[in-house]
Order: sequence, then structure tokens, then C-alpha cells
Amino acid sequence: MAVRQSADIIAELKGKYCKSLNHYKRFTTREVTIGDIPMGAHHPIRIQSMTTTDTMNTIATVEQTIRMVESGCDYVRITAPSMNEANNLQAIKDELRKRGYNVPLVADIHFTPNAAEAAARIVEKVRVNPGNYVDKKKFEQIEYTTYEYEAELERIRKKFEPLVKICKEYGTAMRIGTNHGSLSDRIMSWYGDTPLGMVESAMEFIRMCESMNYYNLVVSMKSSNAQVMVQAYRMLVEAMQLEGMNYPLHLGVTEAGDGEDGRIKSAVGIGTLLEDGLGDTIRVSLTEDPEFEAPVAKALADRYINRKSDYKEDEKYYIPSLHNPYEHNRRKTNDLQLLGDHHVPVVVADLSNIQLNEPLQLSQIGYAYSALLDKYNLTDLAADIAYVGDQIPQYNFPGNLKLLINYKTWLNNQSLENTIPYVQYAELADAKIDANNFVFININTDDASKIDYQLINKFSKAVIILETNKDHAMANIRAFFFELLDANITLPVIIKRHYKNLSLDQLQLYAATDFGALLVDGFGDGIWMSADKEISLRVINSISFGILQASRTRISKTEYISCPSCGRTLFDLQETTQMIRSRTDHLKGIKIGIMGCIVNGPGEMADADYGYVGTGPGKITLYRGKEVVRKNVNTENAVDELIELIREDGNWIEKELIEN
Ligand code: SF4
Repeated sequence: MAVRQSADIIAELKGKYCKSLNHYKRFTTREVTIGDIPMGAHHPIRIQSMTTTDTMNTIATVEQTIRMVESGCDYVRITAPSMNEANNLQAIKDELRKRGYNVPLVADIHFTPNAAEAAARIVEKVRVNPGNYVDKKKFEQIEYTTYEYEAELERIRKKFEPLVKICKEYGTAMRIGTNHGSLSDRIMSWYGDTPLGMVESAMEFIRMCESMNYYNLVVSMKSSNAQVMVQAYRMLVEAMQLEGMNYPLHLGVTEAGDGEDGRIKSAVGIGTLLEDGLGDTIRVSLTEDPEFEAPVAKALADRYINRKSDYKEDEKYYIPSLHNPYEHNRRKTNDLQLLGDHHVPVVVADLSNIQLNEPLQLSQIGYAYSALLDKYNLTDLAADIAYVGDQIPQYNFPGNLKLLINYKTWLNNQSLENTIPYVQYAELADAKIDANNFVFININTDDASKIDYQLINKFSKAVIILETNKDHAMANIRAFFFELLDANITLPVIIKRHYKNLSLDQLQLYAATDFGALLVDGFGDGIWMSADKEISLRVINSISFGILQASRTRISKTEYISCPSCGRTLFDLQETTQMIRSRTDHLKGIKIGIMGCIVNGPGEMADADYGYVGTGPGKITLYRGKEVVRKNVNTENAVDELIELIREDGNWIEKELIEN
């Protein structure tokens, strides 16, 4: 097939990338054979991760692989950057089999065809990155003519064909794994640094495989930016369908980081696609030991095991003309000074279950109180609205924290400043509220069809608080947003969810999925999350801001794009990430990439503002964006040099100035 320009491809895309946007139905892909554990089709969502040991250290790699299998991995990936490592996969495999572990192994290949060809004869699957397998990336913007582009593609085909032949002969599967940060110069010159570029990058390789009648393929579209990652996977599915393909999807967010941030970011990206019914295998990339990744991936996947499908086979696929699932466009809403329109999504803190009797309580939602000065200090995680139910607080609240009070209680306390009445929709018709007053109106999606928007529109500052009782909540709420779009109703909407009987880990992952998926789709002017009493307000508040940050709709903290580490890593990533975090976590909005090696790090840290990249034992290279600014700095000085660089750019703030 001749290569095509972006506009031609985009014109063909209609936004049809899953079975239904309103009902749960897993998208059926073709079955792919990977050792004894097939993937795709009706098989469960498979879990996998990647070793961090030196591949030449057979015993360490075998023992880590076993720990990963015990923690839930169905497949284990091992890096094979050169022939030595590729050949050593045989020793690793033999030792694993000797110890009774038949786990399918995946060789991670980047640049070297000979390593890929050796590995494909040994392991059950190879992963190639079309951005750097034979193709090149030098961060140069080169203009390719059609002739040059096709000639380059032909050159790649010749180098790629031997690998495909070996995979066919040995029954080895292949993942075509595109990374947002490592698109080739050729792809960038025609399609840009875009989800479409990612999709085409993979499609070119898939077409080459199909032309050789090789179909044992899995595809991934990873990025450290959850929005980009979601758009690319969705677009890939439609692009594949247009060419009669249905390869299984390997889902992942690259360089997600560690701890709460890493889990939330992974869930926003992976969870959004799982809600759409997409995804056949998951790898969560955390800057933690790999055995901690599988339980997170498993928790994400397990949520769908018993999810009932209310999808009907004759259901027509519906997507509003105003909604584009391949771009982030926030739904247009009224500007209410506090929220809606261009304002960042607000966070509502639910204080209705605690007795409001002392100002220190508000430190949990971002208002640090000084008794000495009788003053609140706002942190970057200061909630915008506090729901207090029927309580009237026994102390003064900060001026910029609005109080949301149940309507009847509000009615009896109208002299209180800075309050908003919270009305159930059924109360609205008789409510005694001035038309210019802020009013938050609770609507359950079950009642959506009964809503009289003329009644709501009588209030110039009305905001919908949207809840649902449905299991497939994200899609149910999205369907409500579609109705608002179609009816041109521009009332701001705050999404409300209460979670019961969840562990902290589950809460992080499920809330990030439910809220994050809607925010990524451009829906929601705020979030209101609550949970059982055992989970503190501080935790809920932190998760709320984390979800907004991960969906890139409200930036309130420093972002760390740290690689999960692998056999190539040149320093202790966990320790270094913690050290950098401890000194820079007050730099709101700055993105810092922390990458274990120079081979893939610069490409994979994508849109980081600064990069800290391992170049050799004890040596670090520092980047400003994609530009090298300090080469081979000794590790002992590297964090100081990074801070100096941030300072030179005028982006440094002394921590003490913020804390005092
Ligand atoms: S950036 Fe380098 S060290 Fe980090 S995971 Fe990727 S290949 Fe491994």
C-alpha cells in the first residue's frame, strides 16, 4: 500500500474504536500464541512485567522472574540490547524450566536486528519498537519526499524481513511496540509528534508482517502522557479495523513514576481503555521493583472479570458530532467565575461525616492552619469547595473555600457568607433560591430523562452534581454528557462518586479510572470523591488532585517521568527518584525525566522539561527538553547541577519560601 498523508487518514476515521461507548463489551481481538499462554480473543486480560536485573546475570534474572511470576505475571519481558544478552536468554530459559517455571519469555529489542533474530529463536515473543528498529531518530526535523519516504520504508522492510521469517519458523510472537517518545525522524516528518504518528509507525510494520503472512502480533501505543496514550490506542483500533485487522492490544503508560502518582497515572491511561472494552494484556510501569507491578495490573484487570455486559448485538454505535475521542477537547460550559469554561476542574472535599469543630481539620484538604497567627496557608492541594451536609462549622473557614450546604439547612442560615445551596433535583421546583445565586443540583443518571433543563436554566449559576448507580459507571456518565452535548446544554458538571469496601490501592486505581477516563474525554468541571471513613480526607484529597494531574487537566505538583528501570539501568532509579523528588517536589508544573540509560532514556522521557539520564557508570547527562546541556556529570554532583540548571532558567523557587 502506498504511504498516505495525515489528512487522508484522518478523513477516514469516524471515531468508531470500540463496540459501544455507552455499554460494556470487551472488544474481540484475534488469538495470538505466546508459548503455553495464548492472548486475545476470549482469553483473560494477561498480566506482564519486565525484569530490572542485568540479563547477563542468569541467576539474578531467573530469581527475579520467579518472583514476578509468583506476584501474578503471565509473561516476563527481559531486555536484550545486544547479541550477548540475546544469547544468554537461552541460559535463563533453561534454568527457569529446570526450576519448573514455564512462563513465556519476551525479549525486549530496540536497535539491533541481529539480537532480535537470535532472541526470536529462543523466547516465545520479541518486542520491537518501530521507532528505532532499523529506523533512526536523531531529533532532526528532516523533510522526506514521497520517494525518499518509500525508499526508507523499503530499506526497513529488507532489514525486518529476516526477523519475521524466524518468528514464523519458530512460532514466536511479536509485539510491535510504539513509544510516543521514540518516533523516528521519518514518521515525525510526515505525521508529527502525534497519536496518528504513533499509529502509522506501528501500521507500517504490521503491513510488512501481513505481506509475509505473519499474524502472530500484539500491538502497543505507549506514552507517559495518559491523554496521548489513550488517543493513540483508540485511533489504532479504528485504523486496524479499516484494514481488516484486529490484533490484541498490550496496554501501558510508560515512565509512570512511583507510589500513588505512578498508580494513578497508570490507571487513568490503562483504566480508560479497559472501560472502553479495549486491552488484552497490561503492563504497569512503576519505578519500583517489578514484583510490585503485577498486583497493580491485576487489580485493574480484575474489575472487568464479572462486569455484566448490557450491550445488545443490534446496538448502533453512537458518537456525538461534537465529540472527538482522538483529541482532548473540553466540553464547552458556562463561565461561573469559580468553575466551568476555562477554569481548571475544581475539587470538592466531602466533610459531611466529620464533626467540624477545629480549624486544624482543614489541613487534610490543603489549608494548613497556624493557631499562633490564626491564619490559613493554602497549599497546592487546597480543595475548592467543602461539602458539609447539614452542619454549620464551629469555626471560620478560609475565605476561598466555599461551603456547600444541604438546601434546607442553607435556607435557615442564609446570613452565612460564602455558601452554596445543594439541592436534590426533586426539590428544585419549589426551592426558594435567588436566580443569581450559585446552586448545585444533584442529578442521578437514572433520572436523566426526567430532567427539565428550562427549570435549571432559570438559575444563571447552576452546576450539576452528577451521580450514577450503574456498575459500568464511566460509560453511563459519558452517555449523559453526550445528551448534554447533543442538546447544547452548557451547564458545568461536577462528577460525584462514593466508593465502598475498597482497599486504598483499589480506591486509587478505580477512582483514577472512573474520573480520569471522563476527564481525558473532556468531560467534567470538577470531581467530588468520597469513601468509607477508614480512608482519610487527606488521602482522598491527594488522590483527587493526582487524578486531575494525571489526566493533565489541572497541574498542582511536579511531575516525574521516571523509567521503570531494566537491565540497562546505570544507577539506582528508586533511590535517585526519591532524592530528586525530595528536593524538587515543590516546583509545581515542572516535568522532570529520570531515565536509567542514554540508549532509550532521551527518547522515552517525551515531553519532560528537564532530563536526568544515566550515560555510564557514575555519569549523568542533563537535558533541557531534548537538548543536552551538561554531559557526563559525576553522579555525586548531578542533582545539584540539575537544580542549578532549573535555577538558571528562572524556574527555581526556594522550598522554604513556599512552606512559610
Ligand atoms: S530508559 Fe533505559 S534503563 Fe530505563 S527502562 Fe528504558 S531502556 Fe531501561
